[in-house]
Amino acid sequence: MEKKYEVVIVGAGISGAALAYELARYTDVKSICILEKYEEIATLNSSEKANSQTIHFGDIETNYTLTKAKITKQAAKMVEKYCLQHNLQNEAMFSHQKMALGIGENEVEFMLERYEEFKELFPNLQVWDRENLKSIEPKLVFDESGNERKEPIVGVGSIGEWTTVNYKKMAISLIENAKKEEGKIVDIFFNEEVLDISKNDGVYTVSTKDMSITCDYVVVNAGAHSLFLAHKMGYGHQYSCLPIAGSFYMTKQTLLNGKVYMVQNPKLPFAALHGDPDVAQNGLTRFGPTALVLPKLERYKGGNYGDFWTTLRLDFTIIGILFNLLKDSDIRNYIFRNFLFEIPYINKILFIKDVRKIVPSLQVSQIEYAKFFGGVRPQVLDKKEKKLLLGEVSISTGDGITFNMTPSPGATSCLANAKRDMVAITTFLNKNFDLAKFEEELIEKEIPQTNIDLEKQKHFVSKIREEIKAYEEKYYPTLVDGNLPSYWEKPYIPWRNKRDHWAF
Ligand SMILES: Cc1cc2nc3c(=O)[nH]c(=O)nc-3n(C[C@H](O)[C@H](O)[C@H](O)COP(=O)(O)OP(=O)(O)OC[C@H]3O[C@@H](n4cnc5c(N)ncnc54)[C@H](O)[C@@H]3O)c2cc1C
Repeated sequence: MEKKYEVVIVGAGISGAALAYELARYTDVKSICILEKYEEIATLNSSEKANSQTIHFGDIETNYTLTKAKITKQAAKMVEKYCLQHNLQNEAMFSHQKMALGIGENEVEFMLERYEEFKELFPNLQVWDRENLKSIEPKLVFDESGNERKEPIVGVGSIGEWTTVNYKKMAISLIENAKKEEGKIVDIFFNEEVLDISKNDGVYTVSTKDMSITCDYVVVNAGAHSLFLAHKMGYGHQYSCLPIAGSFYMTKQTLLNGKVYMVQNPKLPFAALHGDPDVAQNGLTRFGPTALVLPKLERYKGGNYGDFWTTLRLDFTIIGILFNLLKDSDIRNYIFRNFLFEIPYINKILFIKDVRKIVPSLQVSQIEYAKFFGGVRPQVLDKKEKKLLLGEVSISTGDGITFNMTPSPGATSCLANAKRDMVAITTFLNKNFDLAKFEEELIEKEIPQTNIDLEKQKHFVSKIREEIKAYEEKYYPTLVDGNLPSYWEKPYIPWRNKRDHWAF
């Protein structure tokens, strides 16, 4: 079968779906085709089981700087605005309370300083001391005997915001709405793996086993396979892909009322463990993700080990980058520990020790390894820069084809990334883009007013600082050397520090 479209999108995850929607709604591109390898929309990383379902605004992600949070917030607001515009509240988008939890004096002080820095960008942020936490998220405070944890704690977060998205449902909605745009052809073909893309006389031919489609512009939104296809066409050879799988553990009851993130060790490349209500599992609490290097580009799908080696392009530069990463003992321990999280029997025992930093009372009998949950973050290694890149990578060739790799928070950034590609496509094809309509519908113009009482927050901040002072006075003299271990030394393994202020 041969067909002709203006734009072909490879991959029907959240990135491909967002681009199809924006092209159909905001440009005069008339015909769009999506080619998807599997039998339905969003079966890989955008599936509700593969990711943490979080809309990352940057308020509770403690590894985001204020500048990064400003950018992420705008992208996140696009997701929120889209879902509201299409009435997806409590269907694909959900609201929970959310917080970043600081534990121990260093983290608490860090969280309080961060609050001061971020409160203007996020006017609904609140500071929750121990007493507040007892009522809004009691599991964070008490151990299994009902005793309060000893260390100082603080939660900085908000209530009443949109926090969670089932990105599969959102992807389905995006494609359905793209198809509804008048005068546009938006076709999607399933079970059509793109095997080859070539260009002749300014026209691209995208080939699957059964189809050959010609078009003027191609965007490859195929996750880790984007780089595989780029390499095949001779692009992006400076990049390699390191697939980092993330797994989850599910509780048997609902333990948390909202999202609880931890303070992130900035040395570690992946998000700190967090607890989230799973909107596709009746709000049961899901802890994770772990981080494990996997020699596969897709999770829970047969084959593709060969594609991993082809896309890794192992050479001395890659070995050097990996060696440099592993030289750092924090990263080495973290990788080893995450590997152990996958080994039956010992995995739960080890994992629970880490999760008890969030929920001190948690017991092995309360959690289960979440089978068939979790996806793969296609992390990119840059051979020129000789480093691991943490964010997204887009290879825009300037010749009518773009390849996107989207590790976390790629689902949150789907509409923002699509805008970047939409601008490139309309410029290249000499088409029009309705910026005014786009901004009207998807951009948040001003920070909304808040009813959070700042004086009350200041009071909590001083109260918590006083508690820390009292705590230090109580515990410092009992230390042999008089020095507290640096938080950043061993953030994930507090039980190794034999000092009682870490114990729970
Ligand atoms: C453990 C984990 C937790 C995460 N948590 C979050 C979170 O809370 N919030 C957030 O914003 N992000 C999160 N992310 C990241 C987010 O899930 C991804 O960035 C996002 O889903 C990527 O979407 P995508 O459409 O680019 O890729 P995918 O969803 O992987 O879709 C790619 C599509 O391309 C198709 N495809 C591949 N090869 C071909 C081919 N040759 N021909 C045709 N089709 C092809 C695939 O079948 C697939 O449908 C998380 C990721 C992981 C792994």
